[in-house]
Amino acid sequence: MKYYINAYGCQMNVHDAEIISGILESEGFSSIEDHESADIILLVSCAVREHAETRVLGRLSQLGGGWRGRKSGKPLMVLCGCVAQEHGDSLLERFRDLDLVVGPDCYRDLPRLIRASERISAVDFREGDYTGIEPARMDFPRAYVTIMRGCDNFCSYCIVPYVRGREYSRKNDSILSEIERLSESGYGEITLLGQNVNSYRDGETSFPQLLRSVALSAPGSWIRFVTSHPKDLGNETVRVMASEQNICRYFHLPFQSGSDAVLKMMNRGYTAREYLERIGMLREAMPDIVLSTDVIAGFPGESEEDFQKTVDLLEEVRFDNAFLFKYSERSGTAACSLENSIPEEQRLARLNHLQKLQRIITVEESGKLLGRILRVLITGPAKKPRQQASRTEGNRMVILENTDFSPGSFVNVKITRADGWTHFGEPCGNLKS
Ligand code: SAH
Ligand code: SF4
Repeated sequence: MKYYINAYGCQMNVHDAEIISGILESEGFSSIEDHESADIILLVSCAVREHAETRVLGRLSQLGGGWRGRKSGKPLMVLCGCVAQEHGDSLLERFRDLDLVVGPDCYRDLPRLIRASERISAVDFREGDYTGIEPARMDFPRAYVTIMRGCDNFCSYCIVPYVRGREYSRKNDSILSEIERLSESGYGEITLLGQNVNSYRDGETSFPQLLRSVALSAPGSWIRFVTSHPKDLGNETVRVMASEQNICRYFHLPFQSGSDAVLKMMNRGYTAREYLERIGMLREAMPDIVLSTDVIAGFPGESEEDFQKTVDLLEEVRFDNAFLFKYSERSGTAACSLENSIPEEQRLARLNHLQKLQRIITVEESGKLLGRILRVLITGPAKKPRQQASRTEGNRMVILENTDFSPGSFVNVKITRADGWTHFGEPCGNLKS
């Protein structure tokens, strides 16, 4: 049987799609890129904001309705991921073409559920991970490795702890053997994944210890990790990063709000000052580090002064890139019961303000790279013909024209043009900046 799979949302979901594919392929199913010819259609959904949820449910309706009249008959429709976990059985009532609803802990059951072809939802929480499954990787030379699943932080706006369950760290030795295999297979970039990687723990092994072992096990690969929570980021992680040259000088550190009052309501566990101290620590240890962040505009009770503090923080740090969101109510989270909800137009206006500001900063910071020589990892073809895409250590995209490098090779390029986060470059010999 042929299956088509599509993932929405974060890197964790993209990697879950690789895990699901690994499970299906080990049972004889084969993947196909065209959903029209698929026997099984799987969507891996994201519930973190209402917009993401609406999108995947819209796609489900569209694909569900689209089968009528096709020669091969109705495909088996499967909704996986966080929306599946959030709404469970009720989705089967709402979408009559939907056959299976499968939450993030139940993917091992997929082959059996597909073969049984009963309309059912499987959304139990199970402690554990997908150790032993060989993910069907789809993004060579970039690989994801889960180091932990779930989240115990309960930030008041966030649905993740409700849909992905309690935090669970994977065993250190199973992570390291996966890393070694990836490195031997020529993966140039390995990203460690977890909702809060800094709280990783396996017996005596903490996150910085794991990070050092990972870097040493894959000396020829770049190592990244997401996501870090500012409250748990300690000096040791920064020391390990600074001392191991293959750990990318790139850090994604969400701050969410620049106002201490809002941070408290969000249950984030740090103040703006403490956040800035973490940024100072990173920049002191690695002056050329590339920084990115996540911000939420329009959280309940966010006053103009609170919002201004977020603007000030963006201006003070001057992140190279920022993922900016307007607050979205997620039912069942603590923030839903807060008063002083911000009207939708105001949330949008604040988001627009942040986007404009960040765009200026991103363009200015990227512009500083013009003429510099950077090392890039060739990732594959770019959108246009005769172009190749690559990434810098700082995760910036660099487009090369009329080149023919093999994906996975590291090349030195001179930056000739910058358009926000996307850059253009030409290969060149020497590496100096
Ligand atoms: N565990 C990670 C990622 C969580 S989801 C972390 O803590 O950073 C990714 C981002 O989505 C969050 O950082 C936050 O900025 C945003 N987000 C989460 N819930 C949201 C909500 N209800 N409304 C708007 N943005 C939200
Ligand atoms: Fe959500 Fe906070 Fe956990 Fe991130 S740390 S997943 S924002 S609850």
